[in-house]
Amino acid sequence: MDQTKPGGRRARVVLPHQTVETPVFMPVGTAGTVKAVPQDILETLGAEIILGNTYHLYLRPGHESIRRMGGLHRFISWPGAMLTDSGGFQVFSLSQLRKVSDEGVRFRSHLDGSSHFFTPEHSMDVQIALGADIAMAFDECTEYPADRHRAEESLRLTMAWARRSLDSFRANCHQVPWHEERGGATQSLFGIVQGGMYRDLRRQSAERLIEMDFDGYAIGGLSVGEPRDLTLEMISEVLPMLPADKPRYVMGVGYPDEIEQYARLGVDMMDCVLPTRAARHGLLFTSEGRINIKGNKYREDQGPPDPACDCMVCRRYTRAYLRHLMHSGEALSGTLNSIHNLAYYLGIMRRVRNELGQEPGKQISTAVAPKAPCS
Ligand SMILES: [Zn+2]
Repeated sequence: MDQTKPGGRRARVVLPHQTVETPVFMPVGTAGTVKAVPQDILETLGAEIILGNTYHLYLRPGHESIRRMGGLHRFISWPGAMLTDSGGFQVFSLSQLRKVSDEGVRFRSHLDGSSHFFTPEHSMDVQIALGADIAMAFDECTEYPADRHRAEESLRLTMAWARRSLDSFRANCHQVPWHEERGGATQSLFGIVQGGMYRDLRRQSAERLIEMDFDGYAIGGLSVGEPRDLTLEMISEVLPMLPADKPRYVMGVGYPDEIEQYARLGVDMMDCVLPTRAARHGLLFTSEGRINIKGNKYREDQGPPDPACDCMVCRRYTRAYLRHLMHSGEALSGTLNSIHNLAYYLGIMRRVRNELGQEPGKQISTAVAPKAPCS
């Protein structure tokens, strides 16, 4: 397969809280906040959809509490679209003393060591309580490297959990907190393609999920330490198999050049903690490449962080000032760095969208319409 073949598409994903222009980058709002960046600034930056992490919100403040307060949108005052992950990735990466069975995963909280049991049904219950526009099937993110036997076993679990996630979701999705006020609309549920770095397992996974008929499809288990050409190979393998009229989401990627490359291949949605996490460590993504703002050479640099960027940070502040904030451990440092990096990421997607939209015949309408009552 020609991996550089352009297959990018400009589309629109219609969700109950917001119609999202794709390809889109989704800032990660782990515990109900995109770290260090207020919601009104996210709006100003043009973010249309953000992520919430089910694992974190389940542990604190608790999904029942958020349900009682009307759902996550209302709790954090975010009027745009949201997506929650299934909790699986964090259960496997953050928690301690995991015990995986066909039934689910028992784990200890990384906060206080308390014991919890997550099943596909429980993940759906938590995600319905949180009430993001898009929920994700409960899966096991296969680690890298994983041998063939391990990848097969992990995929078997993920496929069984996908079926249970879907059945549970369909039976209960009318319980989403905004069901009535949104005229009977409800959430969408995406399935997650796994299969490690084995092409045939990925294919098998995609085929079985498509049979189940999810509202959209994610490619998971990438950017977990594998070489970048392998990431690209897996994305290129799976993308053409996914239905053209449903959103395609690659989870947890990537660097600026990667998200641009994947968007041009036909990926509609991506998320990554990188722009905000790197920002808090002083790493800025700019049109001139990555810069570490802590560097001595910026001590009296009066230029903007990125001369080609017109974000609110670059219009107002100098590299010297951002360096000073970083060295002084000022809280504003993480905020300003994060705002610029998010503006940079969102700007890449805006540019790709404009370029795709100018080519006749590339306009595709991918609609996940607000659905009628689900039961
Ligand atoms: Zn900027």
